[in-house]
Amino acid sequence: MSGSIRLFTPTALAAGATVDATPAQAHYLGTVMRRAPGDPVRLFNGRDGEWQALIVDLRRGTLRLRVEAPVRPQAPEPDIWLAFALLKRDATDLLVRQATELGAAAFWPVLTARTNAARVNPERLAAIAAEAAEQSERLTVPGMHPPRPLAALLQGWPAGRPLFAALERSGAPPPAAAEGPSGLLVGPEGGFTEAELDLLRSRPFVTPVGLGPRILRAETACVAGLALLQASRPD
Ligand code: SAH
Repeated sequence: MSGSIRLFTPTALAAGATVDATPAQAHYLGTVMRRAPGDPVRLFNGRDGEWQALIVDLRRGTLRLRVEAPVRPQAPEPDIWLAFALLKRDATDLLVRQATELGAAAFWPVLTARTNAARVNPERLAAIAAEAAEQSERLTVPGMHPPRPLAALLQGWPAGRPLFAALERSGAPPPAAAEGPSGLLVGPEGGFTEAELDLLRSRPFVTPVGLGPRILRAETACVAGLALLQASRPD
């Protein structure tokens, strides 16, 4: 599987289907990777597994592929949601890329008392997540939810999904790989306020977790927490 270019497309995949890729994907294959009609590419769409395809047309801004044969069926992936206090643009970009590689199933940006950002650019982050999914051989691209206040996140959180809250200086043990659905919550650079910590402690589905004695940047904490949660899962 190594060396083969993989592209995400929202189009349904089946033998004989035609897929029109995005202009950015056309640029990537034609100009950056120097591919040509007749060359193979692999496709996935988050639903139909991975497929072998051939380039049938590749010009400036245009990439058309024909789906040939299945490579592997859609398979379960870790159902780990990442809730994170919204960061500045570059840090959020990095976080989305790395968390996608680490298997995050969905992103929940959170607004907290000490959060200094309020908006995301969903298209930009979706493109970053898609690229990271292509490169890491995932079969899905994680979804990005609109930002919401911490209280609203907790209010709507499904009861059957344990939420591991990364709390520095808490003395809490690190998260163990959880089976089934789970979530990781990471706070802002300024940390959670006492009121927010009280709110978290009041929720039965929240478990505090520690990530070692050092104080990590929020994006580092996301990566460290996800690494622990997913590394020994089979999915
Ligand atoms: N300003 C705060 C640190 C915030 S670090 C202070 O100086 O105390 C940003 C976020 O990363 C925190 O809210 C927490 O969710 C997470 N984090 C950082 N280091 C951590 C650690 N050692 N264990 C668990 N979570 C950590």
